[in-house]
Amino acid sequence: MNEIYLDNSATTRAFPEVAELMSKILVSDYGNPSSMHFKGVEAEHYIKEAKARIAKTLKVEEKEILFTSCGTESDNIALIGTALANHRAGKHIITTCIEHPAILETCAFLEEQGYEITYLPVDAAGQASLSALEDAIRPDTILVSMMHTNNEIGALQPIEEAGALIKRKNPNTLFHVDAVQGYGKARIYPKKMNIDMLSVSGHKIHATKGIGFLYMKDKIKVRPILFGGGQQKGMRPGTENVAAIAGLGLAAQMVYANFDEDIERMYALRDEFVAKLRELPEVTVNGKDGRESAPHVVSASIAGIRAEVLLHALEDKGICVSSGSACASNHPQLSGTLQAIGVKRELLDSTIRFSFSVFTTKEELDVTIQALEELLPQLRRFTRR
Ligand code: PLP
Repeated sequence: MNEIYLDNSATTRAFPEVAELMSKILVSDYGNPSSMHFKGVEAEHYIKEAKARIAKTLKVEEKEILFTSCGTESDNIALIGTALANHRAGKHIITTCIEHPAILETCAFLEEQGYEITYLPVDAAGQASLSALEDAIRPDTILVSMMHTNNEIGALQPIEEAGALIKRKNPNTLFHVDAVQGYGKARIYPKKMNIDMLSVSGHKIHATKGIGFLYMKDKIKVRPILFGGGQQKGMRPGTENVAAIAGLGLAAQMVYANFDEDIERMYALRDEFVAKLRELPEVTVNGKDGRESAPHVVSASIAGIRAEVLLHALEDKGICVSSGSACASNHPQLSGTLQAIGVKRELLDSTIRFSFSVFTTKEELDVTIQALEELLPQLRRFTRR
């Protein structure tokens, strides 16, 4: 059975070049970058190279890249680190109601610590309103955290406009962007967009799990949340995961190498797939179309069939998709994002996410549509009997 992997928002397969480089580092160039001998210098070189590669994609300085263990850790440093460093200036933070749990759970923790969080609502397409953001910013607002691309429906937030607005209304407010789903799928330039911190995760861009980075604008006030041996200037101590860092640097370079072409192809695939999904009876595609959505995420609500049942029926045909928000948790919960965009109650549990990568082909999507054409009437007969 051929495998068709349409769950790239959950994780991606590593580029072979990334695996090759990492393997070389693990077995040959395995030094500790803090060591003073040549093995250490060699390891340090890989870190510097990775920083340079990443910094180039964002048009930022190398010293502004902090390596972390994942997107979740980057988000935690951004939020908790900002809160700890700036509590005298204020204890108010703004975010949106459709963030990933890495943000929402961190906000819940900060609320317990006495911080006040404003959760901006979103419209039916999953976008936060700029006027609501403007109204929410106060003199004591220390941070706005807004996701670039939503992981469940692919909604894009107006990041550049939000950045300009935040700095106009309160220049002391820091702006953090969770770009775990957006980096590699959109051009993101923190300096131009007034972004002070940006979270990225390796395993969403064909590097490996257990590695990520946080772009941190030079000289912003953020405290570390880990303490130890002083690596990465004490901002995130712990011996660096050299192989994974090097892999992340290479993957970052690779996802932006043929960017325009890759993204154009992904949008064309998405447009065609969405059009074919809409031809299926009682199927609704959530969020916006074309360039107003991310190129790699399609969320579809399929009336009369539980997502889990369809997921396993597709799995039997070798097709991997996810139910509404599988990457957020493995305990079934109704998705906050789908509720926030007004998906009808009876469809909340009937929503499937298809997510693509640069490896996704038209043939794979055609086979998926054929599978749906075959399965939907069968499963509906079964569930509606
Ligand atoms: N933020 C968003 C938007 C995500 O989609 C995810 C993971 O799916 C994360 C954060 C967490 O990233 P990681 O899995 O690297 O911890």
